Amino acid sequence: MAILLVVDHDNTSLSEQTAKALTAASLIGDEAGTEIHLLVAGEGVTAIAERAARLAGASKVLVADDPRYTDGLAEPLAALVVSLADGYDTIVAAATSSGKDVMPRVAALLDVSQISEITEVLDRVTFKRPVYAGNAVQTVRSTDAKRAITVRTSAFAVASEGPQVPIVPATTGQHQYPASSLVSEQLAKSERPDLTSAKVVVAGGRALGSAEKFNATIIPLADRLGAAVGASRAAVDAGYAPNDWQVGQTGKIVAPDLYIACGISGAIQHLAGMKDSKVIVAINQDSEAPIFQVADYGLVGDLFELLPELETALASRSATKS
Ligand SMILES: Cc1cc2nc3c(=O)[nH]c(=O)nc-3n(C[C@H](O)[C@H](O)[C@H](O)COP(=O)(O)OP(=O)(O)OC[C@H]3O[C@@H](n4cnc5c(N)ncnc54)[C@H](O)[C@@H]3O)c2cc1C
Repeated sequence: MAILLVVDHDNTSLSEQTAKALTAASLIGDEAGTEIHLLVAGEGVTAIAERAARLAGASKVLVADDPRYTDGLAEPLAALVVSLADGYDTIVAAATSSGKDVMPRVAALLDVSQISEITEVLDRVTFKRPVYAGNAVQTVRSTDAKRAITVRTSAFAVASEGPQVPIVPATTGQHQYPASSLVSEQLAKSERPDLTSAKVVVAGGRALGSAEKFNATIIPLADRLGAAVGASRAAVDAGYAPNDWQVGQTGKIVAPDLYIACGISGAIQHLAGMKDSKVIVAINQDSEAPIFQVADYGLVGDLFELLPELETALASRSATKS
């Protein structure tokens, strides 16, 4: 049977998380002849469908271009997915805010167990997923007739570009959900790379001491490296950094090529969000800080001295190059 992947987008652009979830879907469907259909639901989504149709591994793109799906609300989207579910034994979405909103509803409507945030595919019905803030890895074998799966995208590579596959309209049915509607939204706008897909992240913790010091110390280094900025929950709770910068169990899960943790102790809840980073650099004045246990490179010292030094060294290096 085929696999259905629910595409994550904002009616303007396709989220990179979908391209990573597609890699997971391709591993699940690793048998000759298994088709993977990408469902793009929204309004004015032709360009997104065309972009999705060029992702390697997709067999077909289904488009539900309808005002009911404009706001990405879980209720109509889940109803759509369930109405299409007969043709699929596996329904997959990236574990983004949207995927985590819609898939539990899909699982409940199908009366199956959701398998959340898989990080490894062992076979079509068997998956690995982290539990206890990433301190243990559980192997789950599904016995349900259908599987509703979310994918922890930091564990999978981006699917490459492939030949364009057919784009066809999806049958959308009559479902209506007047009980829920989007009233308003406030979107954080930033010139920086998106935290979840950035190649480099510079993150600050409680040690920064204030929002002013956070901005004066972390931001210049992040700017120099073209990095996204992250923060520990302690830094966010203290108001040093905005909420959407929080990395960890109750924040964002990131796996950049380089993660620089500055004045962050390395509590398990923080590690749960960044320990899959390719290279971890920790700067902390306490040589016993747990962050050093996961760090590839550690600098023991005062971040208020080390970070400006690092920034100056990088500045003179780029001046020498140019
Ligand atoms: C249910 C739950 C969910 C949670 N979710 C998250 C989450 O998603 N993300 C998260 O981050 N936390 C989360 N936490 C909180 C977590 O347990 C820690 O409290 C938090 O991560 C600590 O943040 P911190 O490392 O910035 O602060 P601290 O633990 O106080 O560490 C500060 C560090 O800075 C060092 N330091 C101090 N001054 C300097 C200096 N001048 N130079 C260099 N180093 C210095 C210290 O040695 C220390 O190691 C969660 C907790 C719970 C209970």
